[in-house]
Order: sequence, then C-alpha cells, then structure tokens
Amino acid sequence: MPELPEVETVKRTLNQLIVGKTIERVTVSLPRIIQRPDDALQFEHVLAGHTFQRVERRGKFLRMILDGLVLVSHLRMEGRYGVFRQDEPVEKHTHVIFHFTDQTELRYKDVRQFGTMHLFQPGEDLQLPPLNKLGIEPLDEQFTLDRFKSVIAKRSTAIKPTLLNQAYVVGIGNIYVDESLFRAGVHPETKANTLSDQQLEDIYHAVIATLSEAVDAGGSSIKSYVNGQGEMGMFQQQLQIYGRKDEPCVQCGAMIMKSVVGGRGTHYCPRCQQEPLMK
Ligand SMILES: [Zn+2]
Repeated sequence: MPELPEVETVKRTLNQLIVGKTIERVTVSLPRIIQRPDDALQFEHVLAGHTFQRVERRGKFLRMILDGLVLVSHLRMEGRYGVFRQDEPVEKHTHVIFHFTDQTELRYKDVRQFGTMHLFQPGEDLQLPPLNKLGIEPLDEQFTLDRFKSVIAKRSTAIKPTLLNQAYVVGIGNIYVDESLFRAGVHPETKANTLSDQQLEDIYHAVIATLSEAVDAGGSSIKSYVNGQGEMGMFQQQLQIYGRKDEPCVQCGAMIMKSVVGGRGTHYCPRCQQEPLMK
C-alpha cells in the first residue's frame, strides 16, 4: 500500500504529466471507485471540459485541483495512474479513463479495486470526509516536537497503531512505521503513554528522517517513471527492518523478528527494540 513518500512521488509525477490538460470526457467502468457524487454518470458529466491545474497531497490522498473542481483520489492497495496516447491498448483492470483534448489520456488502473475517488467544489474537500478528520502532516513545518507529543503522548494504545492512526499523524503506513520505530529503537508494542520524553523525541525525529529519505529516493526516480509507458509505479526505499524476518539486524546482528501488533504484520529487532515490561 502506498504511503506518504509513494503518494508524494505520484503527485510530483502527475504535476509533470497532466497539468494544463483539458478533459474532453471521462469513462468509468467500475462505478464503485466513484464515492462522490453517488452517480458515476454524474461524475463523468461534471468533469467534462475542466482542466487540471495542479496536484497536491494530503496524507495518503491526492488532491487533483481543476478549474472549479477538486478530485480527491486514494490509491489504497494497488491503484495506479498512467498517461497514455489514446491509440495505446488499454490494460486490464483500468477502471477510470480521463480522455484529454490532446489525444492523450490519464488512466486509473486498480487490480484490487479498493481505490476511491471523491469529487468536490473548491473549498469543500477539506471540510468533508474523507479529508476532514486527518491529523498533522509529518513533513510540514507545523509538525513540531511539542505538537507530536501533544497528539501521541497521552494515548493508552501501543505506539505502532497510534502512529498508524491517520487522525493523529497522516501518511505513515505499515512499512514506514516499522522503519521509524526501528530507527528510534522503540518496541512497537510499547504503550504510547509509557514512552519517555527521550523516546518520544527519538520517534519524532525517526518519522521525519524515514519519510524524508523515502521522498528524496522517490523524487530522484521520477524521471524513470515519466519515461517508459508513462505509468508511475511505486518505488521501494531501501528498507532496514520491514520484510527482513530472520535476516540479521543491520545494527546489532540479532535475528529480525516478525509478530502481529494491532492486527498488522510487524518487524522488529529483539535486541535494538527492547520489549516493554508492561504490554
Ligand atoms: Zn538490532
């Protein structure tokens, strides 16, 4: 599932590929992707004639700004955008096509079909679901240590699900939460309200560093996405802990463990991330 860095890469790529393009018509072949308006035909109808102006990101959502409309898109598990010429064959699992007046088209492909699109009037989108309850952006200037502590430190839940909760801090998913907690040396099952000030500070810096490095890695690979088929895929940052069960820890050599925390597969080093005394 794409997390903040991957969505940021898709955002930057879309800004290179679709800004200034005008929609001639839209084809939706899987109506349930369209969450707002209720009627996918209306979605098609309303978008015709509008031009993409820029693409922004809020958490793991893309905010595609058009003249007089905002399209909010979540890729969920496997959603992908690609820009193609109209005469190129349409791949399987392509569910939404934005046909442009310049004979190219933006295609949305989603094998798992979990992705969503919501269409809003400007100004509405941040006041209504799904964007209205989102927490702080971790790469924003307003994400200070004090702010982080104020939303996280009093929670009685384990730190891993607390960091995954998009109402507190946005953009962190299962991969980068494991990477951040490993970097901070904190066990994922530690209750947030038992963390020391030092641990909270370590997690705060680890989250910023982990996400920033991944954004930079994605940013440097944008060009290769634009070339080729024009499809912007997901890159995978070099990971230190996630997906490395039974491999030696890069810090201490101990065998990396995998367990389930808050219902999610969780990787950690039993030596670098000491288990809490009280779970
Ligand atoms: Zn270790």
